[in-house]
Amino acid sequence: MTSKETTTGKVYLIGAGPGDPGLITVRARELIETVDVIVYDYLSNAKFLEWARPDAEKIYVGKVAGRHSIPQDEIEEILVKHAMKGKSVVRLKGGDPFVFGRGGEEIEQLEIDKIPFEIVPGVTAALASAAYAGIPLSHRDYSSSITFLTGHENPEKHSLSIDFREYAKFTGTLCLYMGIGQLPRIVAELKEGGLAGDTPVGIIEWATLNRQRSCYGTLDSIVADLAASGLAAPAMVIIGEVVAHRSKANWFENRPLFGRRFVVTRAREQAGQLTELLEDNGAEVIELPFIKVEPEFDPQRLSEILAGIAVYEWIIFTSANGVKAFFDVFYKAFDDIRCIGPMRIAAVGAATARAIEAHKLKVDLVPQEANADALANELIENEGLESLQVLVITGNQNRQEFVKRLETEGRAIVDTLPLYKTSKTDLTQDASAARFREVGADAVLFTSSSTVKSFIDQSAAFKLEDGARRPVLGSIGPLTSKSLNENKLPIGFEAKFSSLDQFVQAAIDHFAQPQK
Ligand code: SAH
Repeated sequence: MTSKETTTGKVYLIGAGPGDPGLITVRARELIETVDVIVYDYLSNAKFLEWARPDAEKIYVGKVAGRHSIPQDEIEEILVKHAMKGKSVVRLKGGDPFVFGRGGEEIEQLEIDKIPFEIVPGVTAALASAAYAGIPLSHRDYSSSITFLTGHENPEKHSLSIDFREYAKFTGTLCLYMGIGQLPRIVAELKEGGLAGDTPVGIIEWATLNRQRSCYGTLDSIVADLAASGLAAPAMVIIGEVVAHRSKANWFENRPLFGRRFVVTRAREQAGQLTELLEDNGAEVIELPFIKVEPEFDPQRLSEILAGIAVYEWIIFTSANGVKAFFDVFYKAFDDIRCIGPMRIAAVGAATARAIEAHKLKVDLVPQEANADALANELIENEGLESLQVLVITGNQNRQEFVKRLETEGRAIVDTLPLYKTSKTDLTQDASAARFREVGADAVLFTSSSTVKSFIDQSAAFKLEDGARRPVLGSIGPLTSKSLNENKLPIGFEAKFSSLDQFVQAAIDHFAQPQK
């Protein structure tokens, strides 16, 4: 979808669904990945923007702290302006664009300006909240109609023109959007209209995200229940008999780590996998980019080594970052994977091995224990390195000890190729760090000694506010635990083996026990 100055572009009005990125449509994702411009406001998930082309323009039109959101007509102007320039534009909206999303107004303007458009529906909050709370919105015995209502009809008017007494007459299910602020009044009107005080009511906050919370009551009790629960917007209020017939299994909120919040302390580039494992088990994850990884190498040395790449008998990767950095430069130099030659491949641990296997290369050696010492032991004792040419891919921490052992004990001929550097990030300005300070977490997970160091270095950025949860500290294995101990930081739990799976299992086991 390259833009041509001469033709008019197109606007795609897209529903992003309720928050869980898995609930966006295939069509929506396809468009996000290819368009020139993405216009978005409040988004419950930043992942959608990560799918965009690196050169796509992202325009935020939502509320900025202390200021009102951009007026609707300005948003429409932005859409028109970019489309007129021949750009393809995604307008991304929460839920469905035509359900309390002002999508109607936006397409009216596009029609006036003769801008072609397409509409991609999304999973609206009522359907999503019901599904993730296990509430069947319709039921042959209890409800044969579903009504979507807004408690806040026009954000500019700040007044309600709906007469809720009318809706008391339906016997179906009522789904109330934007209803939290006006709940006392809405409940009063429903009762005035004749809806029984014992009608079941459920409220689901941040539905479909791992921070989802819910509370249940009746029309009589719900205002007090809501106040006691502390739930706030965005939340869906579901009123009707079906709420009492929700599934007891509570499939979403009963996952082992549901309701738990973890801080993952890895570099952005590799946090993904641990985050995914935790999230699949129901946890909310705050990713703190303690360290950042950037390419850094001596071009001269790199080209020498690449020129002679086929002479090596072993290539050794001491981190997943190294794998990424290596293949980035390798593919720039060669367009055929066979140029890597017949060398054997070793990886320090499972995560590093997986990164290599993603290139459809088999890893010949991964030590039992994921650390450089164990790797050196196995190479020296079992592989016979004597006089073999070995290439070690490293970061700016050069693994000198490891290389020395291969040379002296293993008598190998070793070349080291540093390709990246890790450095600390400043977290005082970081939004995830701000959230951690505000709400805290159940545990901070350390996946290496260097994350322990960064945690201590940056402790100023982690001063918890009053009422924030105080985390325990989790360690992925003995080396990380050693760093924690040396710094007198108490260890809440430790993985049985140094692997991400085991680490997550250790977290599950820890929190399954009654907490002191
Ligand atoms: N177009 C959106 C609705 C926008 S109005 C849609 O189709 O879903 C915003 C309201 O939607 C919120 O006040 C809340 O009532 C509801 N909502 C949006 N996301 C939600 C979520 N993840 N959980 C619960 N309610 C949500």
